[in-house]
Amino acid sequence: MKKEIDDNKVVILSGAGISAESGIRTFRDSGGLWNQYSLEEVATPEAWRKNPKLVLEFYNERRKDVSKAKPNCAHKAIAGLQKKYETVVITQNIDDLHERAGSKNVIHVHGEITKARSSTDPRIVTNIGYESIDIGSLCASGSQLRPHIVWFGEEVLNYEIAREHIQTAKRVLIVGTSLSVFPVAGLLKKARYHSEKLIVSLDVDKKPYGYQFVRGKATEMVPYVCNSWLEGLRVI
Ligand code: NAD
Repeated sequence: MKKEIDDNKVVILSGAGISAESGIRTFRDSGGLWNQYSLEEVATPEAWRKNPKLVLEFYNERRKDVSKAKPNCAHKAIAGLQKKYETVVITQNIDDLHERAGSKNVIHVHGEITKARSSTDPRIVTNIGYESIDIGSLCASGSQLRPHIVWFGEEVLNYEIAREHIQTAKRVLIVGTSLSVFPVAGLLKKARYHSEKLIVSLDVDKKPYGYQFVRGKATEMVPYVCNSWLEGLRVI
């Protein structure tokens, strides 16, 4: 039996677009990271086996970018929803801008740049903040550390818990994602018929059934959506 919808629950599903205006590049937009790097060279288990130094350098650069970035008003508006609602942020982003904006319940499905994990035992995860990982950086059991990032071909993290939250939310906001990375993009379909469902993005390939598309920048549209919800109003 399906769980009841919780009138007090808001779920946000965010992607790289929400952090773009904080200066962290997306992967797919023009000027995005994949124009500069090949995905196969830096973001797959094969890349790690073939050239771990290059993979570490790539993520050390990403970590530096994150350390310099600041949460923008879209991240902050989402954190502000906590004043009234149980707010769950499911993010594909590996940055920590939702946390730094004040969100308390952030579920990272693609990992976190501020953590490292053992390359031989995925259960050993440590906070590294904005420190680099180098060849020779070892975990507690003596194995090489790798970034705590879900690479292409690896299983996403926390999927079941994310699914449960989206299934029970009265309000769902999707922001800054091209919805091209599965299985996370498939989470949208788990939202309920009777919940209010919105997508804020510059573009989407295909609007999922039941969602209202609000075209625009995250920093302009997300505060508007959040303020409407804080006043108890429907957005569209
Ligand atoms: P994506 O790059 O595929 O798509 C970004 C989407 O955001 C696009 O649809 C674009 O139109 C939209 N967008 C761009 N600027 C925007 C803005 N200012 N306001 C609103 N929307 C905007 O990103 P994705 O869907 O998140 O998937 C790519 C993968 O890349 C994710 O798995 C994520 O882990 C990873 N990634 C993360 C970061 C980060 O942590 N900040 C950065 C780059 C990539």
